Amino acid sequence: MYILTAFKDSEKMFTITRDMTKDQLLFIRNTSKFTCPQCETPLRLKIGKVVTPHFAHIVLTNCLTSFSERESPTHLTGKQHLAEFFTRVGCTVSVEAYLPKISQRPDLLVKNKRNTFAIEFQCSVIPADDVEKRTAGYLKLKIPAIWLLRTPKNIQLISKGISLIKLPRFMQLFIENQSSSGDTIITYDPTTANFFYASHLIHISGSSFISKIRHLSMEQQTFPFAQVTTLSKDEIEGYWNLFLFKRLRFLKNRIRLSSMGVKDRFLKQCYENKLRPEDLPLFIGFPIQDSQVIQGHLAEWQLALFCSLGQHQLHIQDISDEWLDYFIMTQCKVTDLVKAISVMRRYCRILQMLDINVITSISANSVSESGLFELFEQLIVANRCEN
Ligand SMILES: [Zn+2]
Repeated sequence: MYILTAFKDSEKMFTITRDMTKDQLLFIRNTSKFTCPQCETPLRLKIGKVVTPHFAHIVLTNCLTSFSERESPTHLTGKQHLAEFFTRVGCTVSVEAYLPKISQRPDLLVKNKRNTFAIEFQCSVIPADDVEKRTAGYLKLKIPAIWLLRTPKNIQLISKGISLIKLPRFMQLFIENQSSSGDTIITYDPTTANFFYASHLIHISGSSFISKIRHLSMEQQTFPFAQVTTLSKDEIEGYWNLFLFKRLRFLKNRIRLSSMGVKDRFLKQCYENKLRPEDLPLFIGFPIQDSQVIQGHLAEWQLALFCSLGQHQLHIQDISDEWLDYFIMTQCKVTDLVKAISVMRRYCRILQMLDINVITSISANSVSESGLFELFEQLIVANRCEN
C-alpha cells in the first residue's frame, strides 16, 4: 500500500514529489509526524532504494479499501509524473484528495480555470463495473473522470505509424470517440515518460485493431490532451492495404485453423455458396464501427447475416429490431446486445449503399474495390461521433 499524501504534524497536507532529495526526506521523517488524511492513524514515511519514497500505514486499517488502487510502485511513479505534468500545464493538483461525499479518492484531482477533473492512472485490470461506478461517483460532483491506463509493455514497443494493435477487452473500455481522431485510446508509460496514442482505431477481429500509433513525451503533451491530426492520403492507403492483407490472411488460414469440422458454420456457408473463404467478395468481412462487441471475425458474422437474410427472403429495408435481436441471439456471441444491433444496422446500410441483393447468391453481387475503398475512407476519416 503506497500513499503519497499525508497530514504532516496534524497541520497541513504534505505530498511527496520527485524533486525531494533523500536527505530532505530523512530530515522530514526525523522531525515530523504523519497521519493518514482519511483514517487519521499514524503513517510511516518509507525511504527505500527500490520503491519511490511513500507513506504506509503502521497498523493495517480498513481505510485501505477506499484507496482506488492496491497500488504498485509503477502506479506511484506514474502518479508523481502526472502530478508534475498537470502542474506544469497550469492546473492546481491534489494528490490522493479524499472526496467525502462520494467516499472516493482519485489519484489526482486537477483544476484548471474552467473545470475540475478526477484523474485515474490505472495500472491493473479491474471489473468494468468498478470503472463505471467510480466514473458515476465523480459525475455526481460534476467532476469528469479522465482514465489513463498504463501502457502495456507489448504495446509500448509498437513504433509510430499505421499498425496492427491488440487491445484486451479491459482496454477497449477506455476507447473514446474523438472528433478529429475517431476512436482513440491514450495511455501513459512511467518508465519512458511517454504518452501513447492509438487513434483512428478500426476493429478487425477479436482484440485486433488497425490504428495510427503515436508517442508523445510528457514535455510535449498539453492539457486538454493533444489530439491526433487527420490521416494523410498515404496513411489511409496504409490502412486499406493492412486491412486487405489481414482479411485475406484470415480467410486463407480459415480452413486449416478450423477445429469444428463439419459443424463449422462459416465453412458450411462458404461451401453452400460454392466459394472458398478467400474468394468471398470484399463486402463480407468489411470493417464497421464498434464491431468489437461482436465476437469472431467480421467475415464470420457478416456471412452469417447475409445467408440468414437469403434464407428468410428478407430484404434489408424490412429487417426489424426483433429479427436482428433473434439473429444475434441464435448466431452470434456479443458483449452488448444494443450496440451489436446498431453495428448490424450500420452494416446493412453499407450493403444498401453498395446495392447488394441479399436474396440472390453472394457471387451474383459484384462490387468494385474503389467503391468499397471510398466507404472505408469515410469510416476512418469522417467524424464518427454519430450514433
Ligand atoms: Zn488510513
